Amino acid sequence: MSSKQVDLFVIGGGSGGVRAARIAAQHGAKVMMAEEYRMGGTCVIRGCVPKKLFVHAGRYAHDLEDMAGFGWRVSGAEFDWLTLVANKDKEIARLEAIYRTNAEKAGVEIVAARAVVAGPNTVRIPSTGEEISARHILVATGAKPALGPDIPGRELAITSNEAFHLKRFPERVLVQGAGYIAVEFAGLFRALGAETHLVYRGDQILRGFDDDVRAHLAAEMTKAGIHLHPGVTLSRIEAIAGGKTVTLSGGATVEVDEVMLAIGRNPNTAGLGLEAVGVTLDKIGAVEVDAASRTSVPSIYAVGDVTNRVNLTPVAIREGHAFADTVFGGKAWSVDHSGIASAVFSEPEIGTVGLTEEGARAACPRVDIYKTTFRPLKATLSGRDTRVLMKLVVDATDDRVVGCHIVGEGASEMIQLAAVAIGMGARKADFDRTVAVHPTAAEELVTLR
Ligand code: FAD
Ligand code: NDP
Repeated sequence: MSSKQVDLFVIGGGSGGVRAARIAAQHGAKVMMAEEYRMGGTCVIRGCVPKKLFVHAGRYAHDLEDMAGFGWRVSGAEFDWLTLVANKDKEIARLEAIYRTNAEKAGVEIVAARAVVAGPNTVRIPSTGEEISARHILVATGAKPALGPDIPGRELAITSNEAFHLKRFPERVLVQGAGYIAVEFAGLFRALGAETHLVYRGDQILRGFDDDVRAHLAAEMTKAGIHLHPGVTLSRIEAIAGGKTVTLSGGATVEVDEVMLAIGRNPNTAGLGLEAVGVTLDKIGAVEVDAASRTSVPSIYAVGDVTNRVNLTPVAIREGHAFADTVFGGKAWSVDHSGIASAVFSEPEIGTVGLTEEGARAACPRVDIYKTTFRPLKATLSGRDTRVLMKLVVDATDDRVVGCHIVGEGASEMIQLAAVAIGMGARKADFDRTVAVHPTAAEELVTLR
């Protein structure tokens, strides 16, 4: 017997779920939301936010090195990992409370428990046995770190989840993978002083990114002292006194304090009851949805990482918002998944939007490439051995800028604005007639010839 009836039951209190729940409630719907761990989800609790705080921590190490050339003498600077972790935890707890309060203020009833789908219009809370009858169900359960093949000693490795709570800073660390998470953590561990190894199966980092960006970042990482191990996987991890020995696929061994797997993420659909009610999942377990985020069961929708479309927080939020407006607000709209800008908070960071050079050559009959690399002004006095890369990819048939790729300090901030121009259909001529802001790195974008 259903004890409660709601208009919407949201499973998962992360980026997508919270936005959908709040907007639906604001449209007058009776909304319940279940969160089995902590409100805010991956981004707030163990993703974007704590990661960016750690990235900032690493950048102070760079600042300390860089400032000498500007006349500053600093002595006695020390880094304390546990202070960083504790302060980060405080900030995350503050944000978690805000997420909860905002949802509750909007009228959302929060259930602090795991929820599963028991029917097209029924959600069950296994810990209490309660069943809730819902006109619509939104699956917003996110994803979790993939663990890869079951090699001997795999249980000794951590993932990004645990990296945020290490009791001791790993002075020597091996990160497996070459995607967003792997290069970000390799960069921040190295900046904080760790001997850092990045081990990946491909021949280059960041598959899917522009090839110049990939090569540029790999060169910068090498200059920063990160040991890159391309074309390699892990065969075995063994505990030894004071650390771990990792055997690589070629037979070489590396001794480290921590091994971190960053080899992708799997959608959280296991045991959720979706297939039993007729929701179609793809081969990695992601929920298949249409442009309106509707699954194969008309009363059940899904947004965010669990659908494995574009796995970024702003995308999950927008999908949740579009769902709530469409179903409860009488205003149908859907998310355009093309031309979404993103940043990789590596050292140095990447900002990217639109087509890679390779993608443009496949899509456009004629392509013009404008690119430059240069030493940033700050590096002239700091002496830091780093270069910025800027690249515009232009469809030569109509002069439209179809891709912009930046590696260097401030890339994440610059790309947001470049994305506006590119989204509006800016031509290369529009960039050219824009007067530069000087002296900046961004001015190179309007002076590329
Ligand atoms: P989530 O935020 O993962 O929320 C899902 C929630 O559902 C979780 O809280 C989970 O506990 C809960 N849940 C799961 N199953 C159940 C159940 N059965 N019952 C109840 N609750 C359940 N994106 C960016 O845009 N920028 C970044 O810089 C960035 N950095 C990242 C760094 C890391 C280390 C990671 C791992 C991810 C990062 N991301 C970043 C990606 C971003 O975090 C995700 O795209 C985003 O959180 C997806 O939101 P979501 O709502 O789909 O899922
Ligand atoms: P990614 O999909 O970005 O990268 C996965 C990496 O793991 C790739 O290098 C892949 O190699 C490798 N890999 C996959 N399977 C194996 C395996 N069995 N053995 C060895 N290597 C393997 O995943 P991440 O975990 O880095 O991040 C997940 C997603 O989270 C990102 O794609 C992004 O959407 C989001 N995110 C966004 C961030 C941001 O916006 N700044 C930051 C962090 C995460 P190959 O290329 O050869 O397939």
